[in-house]
Formats: sequence, C-alpha cells, structure tokens
Amino acid sequence: MEQQSLHATAGDSLGLRSKRAVWHPCTRLRPDDDATPLAIVRGEGPWLHDADGRRYFDATSSWWVNLFGHANPKINAALADQLQTLEHVMLAGCTHAPAVELAERLSALTGGALGHAFYASDGASAVEIALKMSFHYWRNTGLPAKREFVCVANGYHGETVGALGVTDLDVFRDAYDPLIRRAHVVMSPDARQAAQDESAADVATRALAVLETLLRERGSQIAALIVEPLVQCAAGMAMYDPSYLEGARALCDRYRVHLIADEIAVGCGRTGTFFAWEQCRDGDQPLPVHAWPDFLCLSKGISGGYLPLSLVLSRPEIQRAFVADELARSFLHSHSYTGNPLACRAALATLDLFEHDDVIAQNRARAQWLADAMTVLANDPRLHRMRQRGLIWAIDVRDEVAGEGFAGRFHQAARTRELLVRPIGNTLYVMPPYVFDAAQARWLAAQLQATLDDVLGNTDADKEVRHAA
Ligand SMILES: *Cc1c(COP(=O)(O)O)cnc(C)c1O
Repeated sequence: MEQQSLHATAGDSLGLRSKRAVWHPCTRLRPDDDATPLAIVRGEGPWLHDADGRRYFDATSSWWVNLFGHANPKINAALADQLQTLEHVMLAGCTHAPAVELAERLSALTGGALGHAFYASDGASAVEIALKMSFHYWRNTGLPAKREFVCVANGYHGETVGALGVTDLDVFRDAYDPLIRRAHVVMSPDARQAAQDESAADVATRALAVLETLLRERGSQIAALIVEPLVQCAAGMAMYDPSYLEGARALCDRYRVHLIADEIAVGCGRTGTFFAWEQCRDGDQPLPVHAWPDFLCLSKGISGGYLPLSLVLSRPEIQRAFVADELARSFLHSHSYTGNPLACRAALATLDLFEHDDVIAQNRARAQWLADAMTVLANDPRLHRMRQRGLIWAIDVRDEVAGEGFAGRFHQAARTRELLVRPIGNTLYVMPPYVFDAAQARWLAAQLQATLDDVLGNTDADKEVRHAA
C-alpha cells in the first residue's frame, strides 16, 4: 500500500531520515514496516503541504490542537511582535504581561468562578498538577486520608506515569501497570451503551448511580473525580448526555470530593461553547459559581495549536488553603517553561480571534454544515452510531466489515485523497480547524465516503482496485 518509500523523492527522503533520526510518538516500530511519515513542509489554513507539492486537509487539527488554521496571519503577527520584546523569563519571582493577561481573561470567561491559572507545557502535566493540588488541598485542610482518585471507564488524561493512573485505555496503560497507582474506574456515560429503549440521559443516570455507590462507600478516602466533559475523545469520540456533568457535580459536593474537568481536548470552543462544561445545564444563563468544577485543565487548542501550553484553573478557596508559613503546605511544583511568554501570547491572539470574529456563533453554523454534509454517510449499512457535538463528528465502522488494522489502512488511503485523518480503532472521526466552509464540509464527506469504498471495497471501487493491481 505504501509505495512512496521506494522512490527517492524529496519528501520521502525526509521521511526516511526522520524514521532513522526521530523516535515518533504513538507509532509502532515493526520490523517489516515500510511506511514513512509524511514530510510536511508548509501549512496554510486547513491545508498541509508536503515536499512533493501535494496537499492534505488537516481534518483532525493536528491532534486536536489547531483551531484557526496553519500559519494564521493574526497569531503569526502576535508572535512576531512578542519575539521582539520577550521570548522567555522564569515565572518564579518574575512575571510578564502575557501570563497575567491570559490568566485574567480565562478567569473572566468562567465569570470569576475559577482563576489563579497555574501554567505548564503539556496536557498530561496539567492533569498531574490538578491531581497533586487536590491531594495537597485535602492534606492542608486536615483530611490527609483523601488521596485516591476516580476516573471514568475508557477515560484518557495523558501518558505520564501519574496521568496514566487516571487513564483507562489498555493500550496506553497496561505495559506500565506495575509503575502506576491506579484510580477507581467508574462506568462511563457513553451513550452508545444505551439499551433498546434507553435514552442517552438514561445511560448518564445509570452511570451516576455507579459513581454514587463508590463515593458513598469510599468518599472519605477520595480526593477527586476527573472527567472529560461531553466527549471522551481518545476513547473514540464517546459522547454522552450533559446531565452527567451536573449530576457528577452534585455528587462530588455531597461526598466532599473535588471535580476536575479535563477540557484539554474539548475546551476552546470545540463543542459549541468556550468551555464544554458550560453545557452542563440547559439555557443560555451564565453558570452560577457553584456549578463550575473545582479544577479545569486546558491545553491543546489554547495556543491555537502553535506552542506547547497548558494550565489549570481552580476555585479561589483551593489556593487559599496553600497560604501558610510552613513550607510543607506550599505547592512547589514547577516546569522550566512555565508560562512561556510566546505561548501565552499565542493564546491571547487565540482569545482575540474568539472575541473579534464571534467564533462561538460562527461555529454553530460550521457544525450545521458538517452535520448536513455528513448525512450522505447516515444510511451507509457499513456504518453506525453517527454522532456529533459541535465540531467533533464521528461514526463507527461495524466490526464485521472493518477488518484487521482498519485505522491504519484508512489513514493511508485517505492520504491519496488529500485527507489527513487517523481513525481511532473502528471509529472514523473529524475534528477540523474552525476555518472551513460549507463546500469544504461536503468535500470532506465525499472524501470520507470514497476512502471507505477504497478500504472496505464496494462494487465500483473494487473494480478500480483490481484494475490498478
Ligand atoms: C491530549 C489529552 C491529554 C494529554 O495532553 P498532552 O499534551 O498530550 O500531554 C489529556 N487529556 C485529554 C482529554 C487529552 O485529550
């Protein structure tokens, strides 16, 4: 299938050099694997261009980070300006305008319910910071027994050793199991589990009952519950009823357990509101302070997909518990690049785009274009469980037709149709940057359908394939 590696084109040579020089993430090293990474030389809007002059639509926003396209002129300009003034300074004992302004603006977006942004560089670190802060808060407030965590089945919160403790995906976790301090795992509200006459809300209610049983029994030992609001992305875009969030908030209050919202993938407008958590209740009213989570983690899209940046927002009373003369009560966590000015400035430019271009409203239109375009796949007998939340669209290929290695085959085949996608198992999804129009949405749907025909074979495509062979 992958013939490019046999040709000594410029793109392939960079790919081959990369294979030798770079240890690629989330990639198996198989003895007879002749696939080479795609050598990308340039990006513009939703398009990535390779060394051979071919282009690819970045349908998954480069691992869910890119919001406003590649080489976005406004973010570029903000970064160029920042480069002329301050590239970096340590954030202990020093500060700078981009870090302060970003923290202020994010807090304002929660109506002041959350704040005190604690910066780090990647999502997994933000998760670890929230876990450590929660545990340490309870210790500082005289409840040191609260040191266990709860995560949701099939949840994903990053791959450092601490974050793996609250991650429930075997492929990432099992090899390291002896190193990991495992959290309690409770039922996922994933709506795909609905029985014949059950609604998504019914599944959420069932999941909440399971959570309550655990919290009732062990609440005095539990520091926090961590959830991915609305969509468990790495699980295969598992979507669920928003009532789960409000229910989980109420249970955490009742049993005195922190609630950590991991919005690393679903934050920044991806699901239809700036924070996914805002959808925990119906209506357009701003959330009351008590309805917010105790901690909220952001990363991925916050810098527009430009630079590594993550942060944890928390309730004011969390920070108050760390105000003390004793060293042991202080949160001494740090990363070298904490609050990097360039990354914060990219984030500010990203927030400017949200404000000036009314992105949340525009994304409602884009979500509708996507929904309309994807109806061509709705009745495909090879597919089922089509679902969408904002600008995340997914569908499952039936196990009996997908076959071995579907995701890899689909990825390779889609590349020949100018499409960059990486299915998760048998789940096909798109999570595009917020820069496509209705025509591109239709093009995207058509390419997905054609690629499915290439990979799974339908009568016409079958003939083509046999011809080619
Ligand atoms: C990607 C992701 C993480 C981890 O972020 P990294 O920057 O890859 O470490 C954590 N939680 C969720 C929900 C994610 O999607």
